[in-house]
Amino acid sequence: MLSYWEKKHFFNYDLIVVGAGFVGLSTAIHFQQKHPKAKVVVLERGVLPTGASTKNAGFACFGSLTEILDDLKSMTQDEVLDLVRRRYKGLEAIRKEFGDKGIGYKHTYGFELLDRALISDLDQLEGVNSMLRVLFTQDVFSKVKKVAHFGFSPHIEAIVKNKFEGELDPGTYLDSLWKKAQKSGAKILTGITVEAIQDSQGLAIAKDGAGEKLEFSGQKIAVCTNAFSKKLLPELDLEPGRGLVLLSKPLEFEIPWKGTFHMDKGYVYFRQIDGRLLLGGARNLDFGGERTLDFAVNEQIRTHLQQLANEVVFPGKSLEWEMQWTGIMAFGSSKTPLIQPVGTKTAIAVRLGGMGVAVGYEVGRELSGILGKM
Ligand SMILES: Cc1cc2nc3c(=O)[nH]c(=O)nc-3n(C[C@H](O)[C@H](O)[C@H](O)COP(=O)(O)OP(=O)(O)OC[C@H]3O[C@@H](n4cnc5c(N)ncnc54)[C@H](O)[C@@H]3O)c2cc1C
Repeated sequence: MLSYWEKKHFFNYDLIVVGAGFVGLSTAIHFQQKHPKAKVVVLERGVLPTGASTKNAGFACFGSLTEILDDLKSMTQDEVLDLVRRRYKGLEAIRKEFGDKGIGYKHTYGFELLDRALISDLDQLEGVNSMLRVLFTQDVFSKVKKVAHFGFSPHIEAIVKNKFEGELDPGTYLDSLWKKAQKSGAKILTGITVEAIQDSQGLAIAKDGAGEKLEFSGQKIAVCTNAFSKKLLPELDLEPGRGLVLLSKPLEFEIPWKGTFHMDKGYVYFRQIDGRLLLGGARNLDFGGERTLDFAVNEQIRTHLQQLANEVVFPGKSLEWEMQWTGIMAFGSSKTPLIQPVGTKTAIAVRLGGMGVAVGYEVGRELSGILGKM
């Protein structure tokens, strides 16, 4: 039961943002900066954001060699270049805005492991470098000379280095966004699930943890719920894609490499963090099973990843595991995010795919611009 004071002060806004992941918080920041007097609220169902933003592996990447070659099979060269540009510029933007410390960024480079199945892609390294020269003016990819120094399985025939990539700490980055959103004047309310949006009236109908129904009224509404958006807007072209991440116990041996690593056309990824192995992905092993909003762990994928750790990453070693978690991404018929109005007062920025770390902040800027014109 609400009091008069609560009703008067907490339920009417100029902008309601649904979802406090990278995109929702970024939207609130950009909108509030452009409209300092606006009353902005972010409504988040979890105590912490509960989607992908704090569940990913912290790769500051924009596409491995084989991933770019794979994309070129279904997209035009211009489309692929546009994706790479968006991701790289997005990473540059957050490094500039928050500083490397503010996002836990380290420029440790990106690497890709090529086994026999992918080794022929190496023949196209020069071609991809020339294609990317319009964006980087110098070579992005190079073949690593001393592969044996990394200590991977002998089945790894080559390693390709990307000198423009690095790693970040998604928790540090989200914390910086959160603080910036609040500092700019936006209010963030957690534990509030939006159950329906009534565009014409500018209403977000929500429920709190105790089950109480709450009606938030907004001049504008931004839906930034990524994989979970179909619950609010069933007609959207997107589907969920779950990603599993495993974290080992601290390793008792020295790790002979640093950086972010991809395998299997980008579907598998690993890095070290605090002397542990962080390994994730392999959604391609069971696309159907991973098309879900359920945060459970797929045993087939977990077994596969653990096997890769013991056989490919640290051959002959048997790792002990300490943590596992899943995050839910959103994919669709195109790799481009959906950023558009969906009514007279409501606009969306969803379907971030596997690139929201890189592009989320700039996607928020774009959505804020759209909302400003509505
Ligand atoms: C394992 C994994 C690895 C990844 N690797 C990379 C990578 O290497 N590089 C990269 O760039 N990106 C990567 N990503 C993707 C990136 O994390 C996402 O694209 C990005 O976090 C999406 O941000 P978002 O704000 O759109 O969505 P989310 O982070 O999912 O935020 C949506 C928020 O909306 C909230 N919400 C949902 N429904 C409601 C509701 N009805 N009411 C209120 N709140 C609601 C959720 O709780 C959530 O907090 C990875 C993701 C995962 C899971």
